[in-house]
Amino acid sequence: MNNNSAACPFRCQVIDIIEVAAGVSYLTFERPFDFEAGQVISLTLTDNIAPRLYSIASGVNEPHLGILFDVKPQGILTNLLVKLRKGDYVQVSKPYGSFLGGSEPAVWIATGTGVAPFISMSKSGFAKGKTLIQGARSLDGFYFSNLFEQEDGLSYTRCCSQAAAAGIYAGRLTAYLRETPSLPLKEKYYLCGNPLMVNEVRDLLIERGVPYENILSEIFF
Ligand SMILES: Cc1cc2nc3c(=O)[nH]c(=O)nc-3n(C[C@H](O)[C@H](O)[C@H](O)COP(=O)(O)OP(=O)(O)OC[C@H]3O[C@@H](n4cnc5c(N)ncnc54)[C@H](O)[C@@H]3O)c2cc1C
Repeated sequence: MNNNSAACPFRCQVIDIIEVAAGVSYLTFERPFDFEAGQVISLTLTDNIAPRLYSIASGVNEPHLGILFDVKPQGILTNLLVKLRKGDYVQVSKPYGSFLGGSEPAVWIATGTGVAPFISMSKSGFAKGKTLIQGARSLDGFYFSNLFEQEDGLSYTRCCSQAAAAGIYAGRLTAYLRETPSLPLKEKYYLCGNPLMVNEVRDLLIERGVPYENILSEIFF
């Protein structure tokens, strides 16, 4: 067994792959284990490609595992993942990570595929009492907005930096947070997405008086 097989011992058959927006796909495959909403897996296709990390985007009670990924220009793995079809195989690790959903009120903040753990948390029954602030450049970047719009008890705000539409804040999510007069100080903040967004939002929250220990981050690098 080489290092990749040891790190990703589960060989899972692909169930489906759906393009949810240009260059962004939702891939489902057999589920060999239980997991907690918010956990990640390592995933690869062959023993000679180093595994990459993906947040599980499916719910804990769903029969299959799902990941939401975007194809990186010149990215080695994502350009192969997008060609997968039903019946192909992926190799995955056991789930791990401490960015875990819970039932207490919290603020979820995401850009891009960083919304993946919040999809899992919503599908797992943790949306009630949460605030989700989702940022995107264009209107097709609000992945799984249909799911979030239907969640009872979820306060859902979309911020679009490069297009305008009714009911959507026109601007970056950091601008939205700056303009929000009062931010809850006792709730946990879950930040997920690219390093620039996560660092900027974390600094902003600390400036606004949110205690450092109430800020959890998952950075997609
Ligand atoms: C905790 C965690 C969770 C994550 N969860 C997710 C998730 O749920 N969904 C998701 O989409 N991603 C997620 N990621 C990111 C993911 O792990 C990969 O980094 C990503 O999918 C890119 O994989 P890749 O093999 O296609 O790109 P890589 O081959 O690893 O390339 C990485 C970057 O380098 C650039 N690059 C590569 N080769 C060249 C070249 N020759 N010239 C110029 N640029 C180049 C690529 O454009 C890309 O931006 C997560 C990361 C972490 C750390």
